Amino acid sequence: MAEIAPPAAETLRLFFALWPDDATRDALNRTGKWLHQHWGGRRMRADTLHITLAFLGATPADRLDAVFACADAIQAAPYDLLLDQAGYWRHNRIGWLGASEAPPPHLELVEALNAQLRAAGFPVDERPHVPHVTLLRKSMGGEIPECRPVGWPVRDWVLVKSVTESGGARYAVIRRWPLL
Ligand code: ATP
Ligand code: MG
Repeated sequence: MAEIAPPAAETLRLFFALWPDDATRDALNRTGKWLHQHWGGRRMRADTLHITLAFLGATPADRLDAVFACADAIQAAPYDLLLDQAGYWRHNRIGWLGASEAPPPHLELVEALNAQLRAAGFPVDERPHVPHVTLLRKSMGGEIPECRPVGWPVRDWVLVKSVTESGGARYAVIRRWPLL
């Protein structure tokens, strides 16, 4: 008799991110439109725009409390990000807006988060963090046009669930942590 495979444990595709307030989202979306005029590709929908702080990927649902605990352990101060640099990555054809200089509190938040996740046994991206908002996918890129800088008052950060759908990923904010 054929063996019946046990049901696969439920996993969630998770990442920590900065999620923009409405004004910041509008400004980012305008830059997306501007970059699209130069570089083409597929614009990211305004409601998906974010900066990834730490990407966890497929995580067993029963580890969610451990993920929350990692975030609960972090104390960080609010800060302002200045996104003043457009960029294009040839290897994945992404057009983005990023910070030419990340303020120390931002880097400290990313470091603290990675340290907590590592200590709890979660896989951590060891590549240097480049704070950026993906604005275009499958883009041609080209000469970098002058872009109006976008100021982002960072007052909180979130855990997001990414659900893969035919038209691209759909994101749902699971929880929010204030910066105090
Ligand atoms: P899709 O992969 O379906 O095209 P997506 O890339 O928007 O859509 P996810 O792959 O779930 O959705 O990624 C969520 C966020 O995490 C994005 O900001 C993505 O750039 C980032 N990310 C994805 N994979 C990694 C990784 N291996 N390391 C670091 N960040 C990642
Ligand atoms: Mg992806």
